[in-house]
Amino acid sequence: MAEQKATNITWHEGSVSREERQQLLNQKGVTVWMTGLSASGKSTIACILEQMLLHQKKSAYRLDGDNIRMGLNKNLGFSAEDRAENIRRIGEVAKLFTDAGVIAITSFISPYKKDRDAVRASMKPGEFVEVYVHVSLGEAEKRDPKGLYKKARAGQLKGFTGIDDPYEAPEKPEILVETEKSKPEEAAANILEHLRKGGYLTA
Ligand code: ADP
Repeated sequence: MAEQKATNITWHEGSVSREERQQLLNQKGVTVWMTGLSASGKSTIACILEQMLLHQKKSAYRLDGDNIRMGLNKNLGFSAEDRAENIRRIGEVAKLFTDAGVIAITSFISPYKKDRDAVRASMKPGEFVEVYVHVSLGEAEKRDPKGLYKKARAGQLKGFTGIDDPYEAPEKPEILVETEKSKPEEAAANILEHLRKGGYLTA
């Protein structure tokens, strides 16, 4: 966990309550945290889910691995330390969106259980919905949309999750998506249904 550097700072409470924000948006803020191997389908499903939510007039916003690494986290690489910091910052951003009443959809490999659990612990109960986007390594290598597995196998890419860096699967994700059994649209619809049943899509 990152150390607190600044001293003499005090949390400033606002005068707009969470309930008021929920009423305004007619939804509850939540983080839908997609985790899984590269090429499991996190980004594909996240994009479809975001669109489905917007069609229902729900405010949703995607935080995507590569995109965040081009901006906020451009100074981070793929060492265990940098991966942890990457997830910590994304967790903080997702928490801000969630607090603002938005449905934040994150798609990051987030391979280490400890890092994901730290984000979960930093949020209120029910505000962190973990989605395990499962694919077998064999199938991920077959898909390989960015040619990264090929590079990793050839030794041109070191520390690649699933090849020479570990992936720690969630033990009790709120939602399990098996991408070798269902289409991305079905997976997105299942997540949407989970959110509806959980009461997130109303104030
Ligand atoms: P990630 O964000 O997990 O790295 P991407 O969404 O970028 O994965 O890529 C997943 C690839 O797998 C895409 O090319 C997608 O079209 C393909 N794919 C095939 N079947 C599925 C499925 N059932 N669910 C999600 N993606 C799938």
